[in-house]
Amino acid sequence: MAIASNENTTKEKAANFLDEIIQEAVARGETRVQTRFPPEPNGYLHIGHAKSICINFGLAKKYGGKCNLRFDDTNPTKEDVEYVDSIKRDIKWLGFDWALERYASDYFEQLYEWALELIDKGLAYVDDQTQEQIREGRGTVSVPGTESPWRNRSVEENRDLFIRMKNGEFADGEKVLRAKIDMAHPNMLFRDPIMYRIIHAEHHRTGDKWCIYPMYDYAHGQSDSIEQITHSICTLEFDVHRPLYDWFIDKLGIFPSHQYEFARLNLTYTMMSKRRLLKLVQEGVVMGWDDPRMPTICALRRKGYTPASVRAFAEMVGVAKRDNVIDLGKLEYCVREDLNRVAERRMAVLNPLKVVITNYPEDKTELFTCINNPEDESAGTRQVPFSRELYIERDDFMENPPKKFFRLAPGGEVRLRYSYLIKCEEVVKDAEGNITELRCSYDPMSGNGSSSDGRRVKGVIHWVSAPHAVEAEVRLFNPLFLTEDPNDVEEGKTWEDNLNPDSMVRITGYLEPSLRDAAAGTTYQFERVGYFCPDTDSTPEHPVFNRTVTLKDSWAKINK
Ligand code: ATP
Ligand code: MG
Repeated sequence: MAIASNENTTKEKAANFLDEIIQEAVARGETRVQTRFPPEPNGYLHIGHAKSICINFGLAKKYGGKCNLRFDDTNPTKEDVEYVDSIKRDIKWLGFDWALERYASDYFEQLYEWALELIDKGLAYVDDQTQEQIREGRGTVSVPGTESPWRNRSVEENRDLFIRMKNGEFADGEKVLRAKIDMAHPNMLFRDPIMYRIIHAEHHRTGDKWCIYPMYDYAHGQSDSIEQITHSICTLEFDVHRPLYDWFIDKLGIFPSHQYEFARLNLTYTMMSKRRLLKLVQEGVVMGWDDPRMPTICALRRKGYTPASVRAFAEMVGVAKRDNVIDLGKLEYCVREDLNRVAERRMAVLNPLKVVITNYPEDKTELFTCINNPEDESAGTRQVPFSRELYIERDDFMENPPKKFFRLAPGGEVRLRYSYLIKCEEVVKDAEGNITELRCSYDPMSGNGSSSDGRRVKGVIHWVSAPHAVEAEVRLFNPLFLTEDPNDVEEGKTWEDNLNPDSMVRITGYLEPSLRDAAAGTTYQFERVGYFCPDTDSTPEHPVFNRTVTLKDSWAKINK
């Protein structure tokens, strides 16, 4: 990869504007690239975070730099180790490894000392106003704020009060530490932003050591600076925070990290708000954070997505400066592309119609050799049993077929994949006229793609030997929401009214016997049906398979 580290190297075209910013820095001779991914451990990571992970780790990797994992754990009431562990697992699963694992809480002591420094410089003060009074005093975009009556406390008094805040002498909400900037500033965030609030709560790492906790704006930039982050990449809504980020760094005279913003990922039919996802989990609308209908990384993993497909998706959607909504079909396209390359093929019938081959011996079983992956010779072959009674898909038979129907019809012939030609001799129905069984004959000479007289048939269908079939629960997933934008609701309704009642359909499928040993974490192509993987609920007594994605694009848009 050619990076312009000196004038003689050709500059590779930048992949996106962040890439370009780094290339410019490199061209100026700033060769060190240090990024970080800074999740708050208050929920599971979702596909939006995956994009941020790919950008942060991807850029560091591309420029021989490093990416830290930093947990932004400044709010003890919402955070938990459960989330820390899941976040680490998800990043590793995506294929990335962090240089340092850090926590904003590692820096509480340093942040506290810097706060004292700002007090000493006359740039911070302790405010006794209530939350309500502080909010009112802030003014509006068009009306300047009013100064707090406590704004002009002496440095000594501020020091004393802040130390006592830290020592636990005050109750939650009794006092806050604010930066002393400008109550009439056009950027509302500059109107004496709160730096610290009092929270008497057990922190998942620091226990009860602290009862004052820094706010995002005071913690984030300083943490970046401590880690000497060169490119602090975050989502667009933080652009108004950037001047304040710079202000603290400037006033403290510490390492000048810089913040850059990109557009967050939004997906059609998908809700990404952690608070709402938590609600779905808590109310039992879904089976958990890893329910395959969730947009979380652990859900994608459970659903059978590959890490490569998620990375490819992040690459495909790119890095934009303006908010947009990506079609869910693109994500499905990426997983389909990857699985087509890597997934082994199997045969399974999800909507069965019994076929009896009347001229095939009753007690006979033979094995047919099937190719595991036509895209990858090294995947080898497997043996699939064939017998007198089979299942085929109901859709592969039509009693009164239209002209171009090449599958099975009365009196017609079809090729069973990897096996014989069969001909439909009789259609058996129940009293209501429903088709219950087909009675067919087979051509014993047609076993190797040939036939007794050289005739060829157009249709090839998949099948499973009925006595050998593994009966499994198969879960078919559809989008969790009915509307492209789940937040788009009619008056009087909420986003929850947009939930799709058919987001999970459970059916019974009949699988070829090799799938009895299907390994968790492996996704297969069920030939002509779609991609499926064993679910984490699956047991030998009760196999459960998830549909990862349909075989064909049902979203059409993507290919246009
Ligand atoms: P919240 O602040 O509601 O807890 P969050 O989604 O911002 O949720 P964080 O844990 O703060 O979660 O996010 C970690 C990083 O992931 C941040 O840098 C954030 O900007 C980025 N991120 C979060 N959501 C998206 C998204 N939809 N697309 C791209 N990046 C995202
Ligand atoms: Mg956040």
